[in-house]
Amino acid sequence: MSSSVHRPPPPRVVIVGGGLAGLAAASRLVGRGLQIRLLESRPRLGGRASSFVDPVTNELVDNCQHVSMACCTNLADFCTRVGIADLMRREPEIVFLDRAGRVSRFRAGLLPAPLHLAGSFLKARFLGPLDKLAVARGLAALARPLASPPGESFGQWLERHGQTPRAIELFWATILVSALNEELDRMDVGHARKVFLDGFLKNRIGFQPEIPLVPLGDLYGARLEKWLAQNDVEVLLTTGVRSIEVDDEEGLVGVRTRSGRLMAADFVILAVPFDRLADMIPEPLRERVWAVENAAALKASPITGVHLWFDRPICPFDHVVTPGRLVQWVFNHTAIQGRSAPGSPDSGRAQYLQLVVSASYGLLGLDKVAIRDRVLEDLADLWPEVRSAALLRYWVVTEHGATFAVRPGVDYDRPRQRTGQDGLFLAGDWTATGWPATMEGAVRSGYQAAEGVLQDLDQPTRLIRPDLPTGRLARWLLP
Ligand SMILES: Cc1cc2nc3c(=O)[nH]c(=O)nc-3n(C[C@H](O)[C@H](O)[C@H](O)COP(=O)(O)OP(=O)(O)OC[C@H]3O[C@@H](n4cnc5c(N)ncnc54)[C@H](O)[C@@H]3O)c2cc1C
Repeated sequence: MSSSVHRPPPPRVVIVGGGLAGLAAASRLVGRGLQIRLLESRPRLGGRASSFVDPVTNELVDNCQHVSMACCTNLADFCTRVGIADLMRREPEIVFLDRAGRVSRFRAGLLPAPLHLAGSFLKARFLGPLDKLAVARGLAALARPLASPPGESFGQWLERHGQTPRAIELFWATILVSALNEELDRMDVGHARKVFLDGFLKNRIGFQPEIPLVPLGDLYGARLEKWLAQNDVEVLLTTGVRSIEVDDEEGLVGVRTRSGRLMAADFVILAVPFDRLADMIPEPLRERVWAVENAAALKASPITGVHLWFDRPICPFDHVVTPGRLVQWVFNHTAIQGRSAPGSPDSGRAQYLQLVVSASYGLLGLDKVAIRDRVLEDLADLWPEVRSAALLRYWVVTEHGATFAVRPGVDYDRPRQRTGQDGLFLAGDWTATGWPATMEGAVRSGYQAAEGVLQDLDQPTRLIRPDLPTGRLARWLLP
């Protein structure tokens, strides 16, 4: 008998963008008989969560420290799936160092959620009794369904809920500006509430930070590339896409690269930042892909990362949150990643610190030297040794478009992953995930786009991972 049974070619999926959203989509489409190509314009994967090579020391330097939390279940799922979970470390506590140099540790006590941090909170030294009372009232109000007038910022909400200036500056701003990369007066109330519910109230471990043990370029680097290759994902780096292509019948044809090559596709997942969308969606498609208008309404918010290599130990913690300062969080890469002097991992007492200034609008007009000096001044106030230490090397990296700004009502402008064009899906931290611009949000968007593709292939599968379970008492106390 002849063996000329004709097998249909596998459906072709092109993913545009090798950030976490595109990578997450790829990770959930493998093993389903699809031909998957991932096109990335830069010479590396990881998108905004990435490193660059210091030309002098040849070392990887992160664009900025990235931290996750234990409540980020989809990012954890992605890391496990692609075999990089062991490159992250979960911390049992968050350490706060206040302006007076006093240490407060937030660690789960014996009580069940949402009271597991009550002991740490009561002992916290950077807030007085009246501030704590106000915060407790504020948290109780946040735990109830919100009745916030449209357009209200979280700053206005806090005023309306009788928060003391110290509670606002040292508690609410400290946690939320880092978590949401926005100032309180420009921040959406719903997103602020979500940080506290998911991270601090529903589950005993949700707040625990997850910190990479290696530079981001290694975290989302060789091991991940190998996993993709082993799972038959064709990764094309330095392959920028110019536009999505449709034919006269308005069917999806594929993508056109910047070098003019047409790559045919049955499905395209466009996983690029929101400010790239308009250029890539040609005019006839715009009637069906409303997201271009959504994307145009989004605004960006900056983050500044400052890397300092000192000739001696400065920071005695692995990482520490510094309420009420320019710098919000200090990471000791000598302790966490075993890196010390620039270009030489084991050179005696040298220490490598990475500092984060989220929502760094106030630094945008300053040059790198001025930013470095302001940060050094801030640190010297905490650790006077900074004044006598030699600064061996530094980097100041400001990402102007680090995240989309979570301004009030922002979720109305975040498009779904499924578009009005058959076969075309969007992904990216800025699409509708319910999450702020985070690695978790990016991974969720990729999973959601992959769910859409599988649904159209008659293989409907739930890919989004469940949240951490809500504790029994929390279920009763929280809506
Ligand atoms: C400084 C900084 C600090 C941050 N800190 C944290 C943190 O602590 N915790 C956290 O959870 N999140 C943090 N984030 C946010 C996090 O990095 C992002 O939410 C996440 O990485 C976004 O992933 P993405 O895939 O949606 O987008 P991106 O990472 O932007 O990926 C999009 C990819 O598309 C590529 N691309 C663009 N145009 C084209 C084209 N035409 N053709 C082909 N490819 C193209 C880009 O090169 C990029 O690789 C931080 C971000 C920054 C910038």
